[in-house]
Amino acid sequence: MSSPSRTLIVQKYGGTSVDGPARIRAVAEHVVRTRQEGHDVVVVVSAMGKTTDELIQLAEELSAFPPAREMDMLVTAGERISMSLLCIAIAELGLTATSFTGSQAGILTDTAHGKAKILEIRADRLRDALADGQIAVVAGFQGMSTDRNITTLGRGGSDTTAVALAAALGAESCEIYTDVAGVFSADPRIVPNARLQPQLSFDEVLEMAATGGRVLALRSVEFARNYGVTLHVRSAFTWEPGTWVGQEEAMEKAIISAITHDTSEAKVTMLGVPDRPGIAARLFRALADEAVNVDMIEQNVSVHGLADISFTVPKADLLVAARVSEEVGTEMGASSVSCDADIARVSLVGAGMKTHPGIAATMFEVLAANGVNIEMISTSSIRISCVMREDRMVDAVRALHTAFELDQEPVP
Ligand code: ADP
Ligand code: ASP
Ligand code: MG
Repeated sequence: MSSPSRTLIVQKYGGTSVDGPARIRAVAEHVVRTRQEGHDVVVVVSAMGKTTDELIQLAEELSAFPPAREMDMLVTAGERISMSLLCIAIAELGLTATSFTGSQAGILTDTAHGKAKILEIRADRLRDALADGQIAVVAGFQGMSTDRNITTLGRGGSDTTAVALAAALGAESCEIYTDVAGVFSADPRIVPNARLQPQLSFDEVLEMAATGGRVLALRSVEFARNYGVTLHVRSAFTWEPGTWVGQEEAMEKAIISAITHDTSEAKVTMLGVPDRPGIAARLFRALADEAVNVDMIEQNVSVHGLADISFTVPKADLLVAARVSEEVGTEMGASSVSCDADIARVSLVGAGMKTHPGIAATMFEVLAANGVNIEMISTSSIRISCVMREDRMVDAVRALHTAFELDQEPVP
């Protein structure tokens, strides 16, 4: 039986971390180790390796427009495979682990298939399993909707399952095990000498996740910040300590903590729009009504009463955005509407930016010195983003990483 004084740790394992029997055995051993150190453990697993992509591809071979409900039913199967295999591996090590689908774990969501939001967690079955001395293993990225269908939380959503369970169960911490050693100053696949960041604030990681820093799902960081769940992102290969993500007050503020990149968006430009009240409202209401997620927006100063408006949307929404913009543009008398999918956004993120003037100027100088033309700019108090040609992105990330002295010092 589990004693009431035991602390609870939620551990989440990503796809690469459970890719095959050897990896699953290594994870089972780590879970058992954690249990034997005296903690209660709830594990959240992703589908093995590229399973989710493969399942989506299978459906796409059958239909260009597969029904959303069936897609969710299909892809949640991936997590069911890994959760049961992990329980089998843990049993082999002599402990009892019980697997739960999202629905069995009491994760109640809204009805938006493919991007459902968690409404409530009724975690009684997990609590009972823990009280009975078991390890609970939960399938990531899924839940059951208010109309009793199986839903998914969006790609990368197992992170969100883990943080939401940590909040609901009052876990001491939420460990996110992945295929890199933690959160780095840039994607290590693009900047091989990126630096591991031992501590980051929720706000910094939120900006990173929102601007392409794939290591944590955006919604999971929102959950962590809203419910004060400390995150520890670390390697499922070395088991070494990685990056702690928590409240900003608790940490030293680096001026720049990361450079992120994103190629998932496209740009729509409307030229020669009459510059009068209500034009932007009309366009962006029409886009919102079609559920197009607009991100950056830029409007230039009007010349002879005509202005140009550019905005970015997810590439997946580009066709709809183009159609809506054409319709509204014609109605308003715009001279043209064009679309451009070959863009990338590169962003500088850092809490210390608030108190250090001149960061934007330096960023623009570095890009200029590398011959990168800036097409759009947007900022928050701790982020500066520039849109550029996609084929200049990697050079831009590397040049900024060096210029802001983020390159890891060589080991002496
Ligand atoms: P998992 O399957 O464990 O959830 P993901 O593929 O979703 O793993 O996220 C880990 C990947 O995120 C890494 O392999 C890395 O390439 C990528 N990544 C992008 N930006 C960063 C960053 N700043 N720090 C660490 N990893 C990053
Ligand atoms: N398996 C899902 C995906 O690939 C969820 C996750 O891994 O977090 O998106
Ligand atoms: Mg992930």
